[in-house]
Amino acid sequence: MPNREGTTAMPSSAATSGSHDVAVIGLGGMGSAAARSLAARGARVLGLDAFGPAHDRGSSHGGSRIIRQSYFEDPAYVPLLLRAYELWAGLERDSGADLITLTGGLMIGPPESTAVAGSLRSAREWDLPHEMLSAAEIRRRFPTMAPGPGDVALYEERAGFVRPEATVAANLRLAARAGAELRFEEPVTSWRPLPGGGAEVLTASGRYTAGRLVVCPGAWAPRLLADLGVPLTVERQVQYWFAPRGGTAAFAPDRQPIYIWESADGTQVYGFPAIDGPDGGVKTAFFRRGEPCEPDTLDRTIRPEEVRAIAEHLAERVPDAPGRYLRGAACMYTCTPDEHFVIAAHPRHAGVTVACGFSGHGFKFVPVVGEILADLALDGGTALPIDLFDPRREVRT
Ligand SMILES: Cc1cc2nc3c(=O)[nH]c(=O)nc-3n(C[C@H](O)[C@H](O)[C@H](O)COP(=O)(O)OP(=O)(O)OC[C@H]3O[C@@H](n4cnc5c(N)ncnc54)[C@H](O)[C@@H]3O)c2cc1C
Repeated sequence: MPNREGTTAMPSSAATSGSHDVAVIGLGGMGSAAARSLAARGARVLGLDAFGPAHDRGSSHGGSRIIRQSYFEDPAYVPLLLRAYELWAGLERDSGADLITLTGGLMIGPPESTAVAGSLRSAREWDLPHEMLSAAEIRRRFPTMAPGPGDVALYEERAGFVRPEATVAANLRLAARAGAELRFEEPVTSWRPLPGGGAEVLTASGRYTAGRLVVCPGAWAPRLLADLGVPLTVERQVQYWFAPRGGTAAFAPDRQPIYIWESADGTQVYGFPAIDGPDGGVKTAFFRRGEPCEPDTLDRTIRPEEVRAIAEHLAERVPDAPGRYLRGAACMYTCTPDEHFVIAAHPRHAGVTVACGFSGHGFKFVPVVGEILADLALDGGTALPIDLFDPRREVRT
């Protein structure tokens, strides 16, 4: 099996015949990208998912995800983002799908807020193009936004949005084209490492073996990765669509940037331009204001009081956005205590690679996570910096 360097890396052979080189459990955002990267490098890949392709039961649905570079969560994400942007372009090229649109992005709030100060720190540390705007400048350049006198913004031209369902579908298509065997509606009930190397995977209807395992179960990680040693909290998070007052023209993607707006109390709300035509409305949500949930019993009903809460919060900031409520969709975050990802070799099981705990901000990294997972599974290491995502890290909350 040739790897990226053209050398040969053979996973230890599994105990039974008909085995694959790598089995990928979970074919959502991260798993679909892993399957694509692994298959592109010549591995014989088996992919398994509990639901259908690009479904809406997990964390990768809702039509849009913010992508940005001046990353307020930690400057350590920036090199991964720079690589991700290259890979997004490649994924669009290879799939022919429209996946990423740069609209510009505003990180707004008081100067000392995480959104502003953290973004500025990353921009300076990595020399990323950006502008700092006063409240008056924000209002002049982006008339839909109504900042208070204490608000400022970091504006980044290279921010925008990516399309989650289309991305997963593109990854799956490319993985299948490169020879991956993808099985849907087939939940994994358990997996275990085999004594002679490799792993066994049991599903509702079959038993498989593979030389390596890549486990990307999203909100089901507490169940499938119970002995990882990282406390994970699954949260229900709702995305809302509104028809803006006065129509969508003022919110067209060539006029309206994506935004993350932090209030003095630390609450963050974010929003998108009108990207789905005149009747599609604008999408908005609170960032990290969820409630604990279980993935199999997630309450998908949107309550009137939640719609009221976001509409009132938004009315003070983007007054025309919360016009008529159109619809909502529940989604899930899988959070680590410090809100940094887990991407690593499983600390207890040789040959098992894990990716989980994306804490509500993972989608923009999908193609680079796929690359890292293929590096870890096939080469046993990666040149990309992933120390922050070590499950054995000392977690600071
Ligand atoms: C409302 C919302 C807004 C977000 N906004 C942003 C944003 O603006 N920018 C950003 O970068 N990120 C954002 N995110 C986060 C991002 O979408 C997630 O980090 C990312 O989608 C996680 O991908 P995943 O592959 O871990 O999970 P998923 O895509 O959910 O994939 C997990 C897969 O594992 C499968 N699976 C689970 N258990 C089993 C089993 N036993 N057997 C077989 N298959 C199984 C599931 O069916 C699923 O397909 C947002 C998330 C939400 C919910």
